[in-house]
Amino acid sequence: MNHLELWKKSKEQLKTAQPQHAYSTWFDPIKSIGLSEEELVLEVPNQFFFEWIHTHYKDTIKQEVESVYRGEVKIKYTVSPEGRKSAVRKSTEGQSTARNNQYNNNKNKQLNEKYTLSSFIEGSNNQFAKAAANNVAESPGKQSFNPLVIYGGVGLGKTHLLHAIGNKVFKGEKNKRVVCASSEKFTLDFISSIQKNRTVEFSKSYRNTDILLIDDIQFFQGKEQTQEQFFHTFNELFQAGKQIVMTADRYPGEMVGLQDRLLSRFSSGLSADIQPPDFETRVAIVMEKAEQNGLKLSYDIIELIGTHIKNNVRELESTIIRLLAHSSLAKKEIDIHLAKKVVKERLGSSAIYDITAEEIVRRVSETTRIKEKDIVGTSRKMEIAEARQISIYLCREILGTPLVSLGMYFGGRDHSTILHSYRVMEDKTKKDQRIGNLVKELRRELSFSAN
Ligand code: ADP
Ligand code: MG
Repeated sequence: MNHLELWKKSKEQLKTAQPQHAYSTWFDPIKSIGLSEEELVLEVPNQFFFEWIHTHYKDTIKQEVESVYRGEVKIKYTVSPEGRKSAVRKSTEGQSTARNNQYNNNKNKQLNEKYTLSSFIEGSNNQFAKAAANNVAESPGKQSFNPLVIYGGVGLGKTHLLHAIGNKVFKGEKNKRVVCASSEKFTLDFISSIQKNRTVEFSKSYRNTDILLIDDIQFFQGKEQTQEQFFHTFNELFQAGKQIVMTADRYPGEMVGLQDRLLSRFSSGLSADIQPPDFETRVAIVMEKAEQNGLKLSYDIIELIGTHIKNNVRELESTIIRLLAHSSLAKKEIDIHLAKKVVKERLGSSAIYDITAEEIVRRVSETTRIKEKDIVGTSRKMEIAEARQISIYLCREILGTPLVSLGMYFGGRDHSTILHSYRVMEDKTKKDQRIGNLVKELRRELSFSAN
């Protein structure tokens, strides 16, 4: 048997023994390049791949090959020349471009090339910030958008947008200089420049640019000297018509521990916020990230993740990575049970619970902002009665709780009152779109929590 045949047959076996996505991610790309003296040489696409195979699948592969070969085979792995080239290119990139263009060199090190505007998924939560980013990248330094401050909570894509601006400016006109750093790096560079007596070089390195991108300016809080330094950098660039973009964890006007003169500079341009993504955007992000990782997920799994992982895009991403890891390591297909397990882990045990009437009331209370104790109380005020009807309807629909028990739970009402509430709500969900949507949303959230 020649090596091609040997590997082809081994792959066929791996294909049946391994989950489909594990096969297509980790086995299909491997090529056989030779067999001599019981040693099969397999070529993998890159170093990362090699390490992954080495730690996770070395034995599996050996077993399958040996079973096809019917005897012992040593397996040697080699990284493909392209994979090696790109690794080499990466490590020498700095040096070679440094000769051509000092600033391109800076850019390569400072910007994450994966963060582009086209890989940034747009939703109503981030539309404005993305448009502002695009605008600034197209014409940096325009007065009304300078400085641009992008602000919002953790993991919502601020750094992504910041780097996307840098990448676009750099791509647009090769000779544009881009400097990108976190405020922490700015601080550290500043401190070390003082220690080494190189403050002039420090200033140059941040001021010799067409666009300055500074991430997480909240870390400047309380650092007086660094703020002073940043103030001068800012002014010099601003006066020269250079673009400045910053990110922050909150609206600049609300930041404490920053000098007023800095804050007033920061607020003089454009501020754009990023909010947590809504359900549709979360689903779009999950689909995109799954695809990037070569994962095919069924819609119920996508919906499960999008429903529960709410506040942070980074968490959506890491949920997908975990799902991939779990299924590769346990050699299981990704099904809804595995997805639930992973989502549960991400959220901590409290988050997907066995549903009870309390839980339903709690959710309804969160959504309607009517207090739980009012929902189960006796008030007949319209909004309260409505929240109660919704809760009763959901309890009956999801839990199938008997009317009598529901009556006891909801303020000692008799079963005919409960039945009436249920019918009223059943009717409203069909006729009143607002209520229909509300109930649908709650049902979706709750139904994923069950079992
Ligand atoms: P922040 O800086 O706001 O804490 P990041 O920019 O680091 O957040 O984003 C966290 C992760 O989520 C990154 O991997 C980023 O690519 C991804 N991400 C955030 N928002 C989006 C989006 N709208 N589309 C695609 N990926 C996103
Ligand atoms: Mg960030």
